[in-house]
Amino acid sequence: MSGNSTAHSPRSLDEAYEILSHTAAKVIAGGTDLMVLMNARQLDAEEFLDIWRIDELRGIADEGDALRIGALATYTDLIRSPIIQKYAPALVAASRMVGAVQIQNRGTLGGNIVNASPAGDSLPVLAAYDAELEIGSRRGLRRLDFNQFYTGYRRTALEADELVVSVRVPKLKADERDFFCKVGTRRAQAISKTVMAVKAKTENEILEWIRVGVGSVAPTVVRAYKTESLLAGRAITADLVEQARQSISLEVSPITDLRSTEHYRRRVTGNVLARFLREVIDSDGAGI
Ligand SMILES: Cc1cc2nc3c(=O)[nH]c(=O)nc-3n(C[C@H](O)[C@H](O)[C@H](O)COP(=O)(O)OP(=O)(O)OC[C@H]3O[C@@H](n4cnc5c(N)ncnc54)[C@H](O)[C@@H]3O)c2cc1C
Repeated sequence: MSGNSTAHSPRSLDEAYEILSHTAAKVIAGGTDLMVLMNARQLDAEEFLDIWRIDELRGIADEGDALRIGALATYTDLIRSPIIQKYAPALVAASRMVGAVQIQNRGTLGGNIVNASPAGDSLPVLAAYDAELEIGSRRGLRRLDFNQFYTGYRRTALEADELVVSVRVPKLKADERDFFCKVGTRRAQAISKTVMAVKAKTENEILEWIRVGVGSVAPTVVRAYKTESLLAGRAITADLVEQARQSISLEVSPITDLRSTEHYRRRVTGNVLARFLREVIDSDGAGI
């Protein structure tokens, strides 16, 4: 923040909504994305709304079928939470892959969502979980499916006066499984070449249903709906694994950039899905 900037530090959501209703203040949570922009002088804002002290945005609660995660939950909060460990293990796996410990202590789930990077590590998990966002403003609260939140490259359905308040994720049931895999250049601090999360219901090698979220392979995080339909209700065979590998590598639309090529991203995305399917076979059946 420059010497001329104004910073608001409200203690309640109502105060925050009031400020957002009549200013163009830029929301700052953990600041781990925004500080990078500020240091690079790429942030054009003179007024800031620091939401870090708003307790209503914290907490992880068990609400029966779903977990409600406050937008200010940090990766460390997620990693340490017994109910996230039990009912949303892929979110723990994703949180462990974010940055180093300093970033995990300060970076928030809400910040990862609103920052809208196609490479955000939590986003494929929320996509595969069919998460729901609770969004608030002075006009009240609304709920939006996470899979409808991104409207284009780094664009979201959030209005300027709105905050992401919490995220609801359905609890993983005993007969469901999830999976997370990030492929990057090196483990810590790497931005992914592809990042995938899966949630599925399987019984004896039959995939009743599967949901696949993929990041870094399109302008936004995406669900692989075509590949999901191909797999639903089928027994996993070597042939089906090959079909799924092909299908998802054609379904994603990656680009070539500094970190990887389009070709490599398509291929590795197929390989990661194949790995998940083979894991199901290894744990449920005799192997293929
Ligand atoms: C060294 C380093 C390593 C990193 N490694 C990774 C990584 O491995 N994987 C990964 O996914 N990310 C990584 N990041 C990016 C970053 O840490 C995450 O995206 C983090 O979750 C952002 O959260 P934050 O609270 O710090 O967001 P902030 O920087 O505070 O905000 C980010 C954006 O979200 C908006 N915002 C934040 N909270 C809300 C809210 N509740 N409602 C409305 N708007 C809101 C802000 O206005 C801003 O536009 C890394 C960053 C750094 C600096």
